[in-house]
Amino acid sequence: MSTSVPANQGLAFQRCLEPDCGTTYDVGEVRTSCGDCGGLLDVVYDWDRLPVPKSLREFEQKWARRNEPLCRSGVWRFHELLPFAPPEKIVTIGEGQTMLQPSAGVAEYVGLNPGGLFLEYEGLNPSGSFKDNGMTAAFTHAHTIGAKRAACASTGNTSASLALYCGVSKLMQAVIFIGSGKISYGKLSQSLDYGALTIQIAGDFDDAMHRVRQVSEQLGIYLVNSVNPFRLEGQKTIMYRVLESLDWQPPDWIVVPGGNLGNSSAFGKAFMELHELGLIDRIPRLAVINAVGANTLHELYEVRGNRWNDGKVDHQAATEYYAELDASGRRASTIASAIEINRPVDYQKCLRALHVCDGVVREVNDEQILNAKARVGENGLGCEPASAASVAGTKLLREEGVIAPSDRVVCILTGHQLKDPTATIAYHTTDQEEFNRVLGSRGVKRAEFANRAVAVPNDLDEIVRAIQLNS
Ligand SMILES: *Cc1c(COP(=O)(O)O)cnc(C)c1O
Ligand SMILES: [Zn+2]
Repeated sequence: MSTSVPANQGLAFQRCLEPDCGTTYDVGEVRTSCGDCGGLLDVVYDWDRLPVPKSLREFEQKWARRNEPLCRSGVWRFHELLPFAPPEKIVTIGEGQTMLQPSAGVAEYVGLNPGGLFLEYEGLNPSGSFKDNGMTAAFTHAHTIGAKRAACASTGNTSASLALYCGVSKLMQAVIFIGSGKISYGKLSQSLDYGALTIQIAGDFDDAMHRVRQVSEQLGIYLVNSVNPFRLEGQKTIMYRVLESLDWQPPDWIVVPGGNLGNSSAFGKAFMELHELGLIDRIPRLAVINAVGANTLHELYEVRGNRWNDGKVDHQAATEYYAELDASGRRASTIASAIEINRPVDYQKCLRALHVCDGVVREVNDEQILNAKARVGENGLGCEPASAASVAGTKLLREEGVIAPSDRVVCILTGHQLKDPTATIAYHTTDQEEFNRVLGSRGVKRAEFANRAVAVPNDLDEIVRAIQLNS
């Protein structure tokens, strides 16, 4: 295998996802949608003329060259599978050095055989969430075309990631749009600390998303939101690393929380391409898990039966549903703030992923999410609330019998435990008022696995007695 991918002029394109359109654009063109029909753009490659490995095992050769940044990165050591930029333009900060952790404790909780459940711990990324996988790719594209400013709307993790890449590289200024009161302190503190220009809008994520598109258009700022097709290229590598950790044997299921649906879309694209390239012979099934309070995908896919349909997606179904949401004044609402999104921008690509991976969609409520999160934490790898939707969803699919006890299941833990301490503290608190304020208001009744602090007077005997009583 060649050590690096050459500058790929003419071998990578952007292509409109609409089958009746399919207009292609140069990889160096900056677009957020198709100029002909407004459709989503997809990155496509002329694989026949690119140096594609014959076997996924060939990537193992890069492990011996870990001192080279592009081999160390968990994204760019798979450069041959996302060859849209020349190596000298790549901006990497060591993203994607994550791990797949088997968890017998979580397996037991969800009802899988011991050894059947794996947690792909993306909280280990430099900014603490999987978003770095996509940001290194979008940032690289932005750098390739000479951008000086980059913007995003975010529930927090995308902005933290963009701010970090700008802070480390000093190649661009980060402009971050957030909604009011919806961002966790852990995430907001990152953007501020990394020096990003932070614009707080009086509105929610969907409002911020709408405005950032207008503003970046007007001011010519590079947009790194999920509509950016290059981010998904980077996020494909999460699946490559899962395969790598399983000695290249695909698991039975990948379970992932669904917000804007970039991750699930990227996973589907990864498996679609690996299969087309003859690098895997079996595609895992995909389960995308919504929060009940932000369940657009569940409603459209499972309830109303909207499908990929060879790319001829019934857009009217989504338009009608959004009109219903507006008419009833319903806003996205869940403790899992990273998936608190009602208008997922990558909806159409996610339908393709569900098609490719014979997927299912489920919804779980905030109580299920937080109980699952506590179980994940207790077994040693904490995560933020949105991430735990994958574990809660796995439990539900086991109860339904959709996932078998003997299946091998990979849950994506999308973000680090320290991203959202407010939810964690409220879950474990002894203060009923605090519990009600943060969680009770969201319909959470019982913190099944709360680990409550033991209050004792400042007295040696009392302290000793408390320890003896509780151990
Ligand atoms: C962004 C994010 C999600 C949602 O991912 P999508 O690609 O938007 O569906 C889930 N969990 C965490 C921690 C996130 O940061
Ligand atoms: Zn088009």
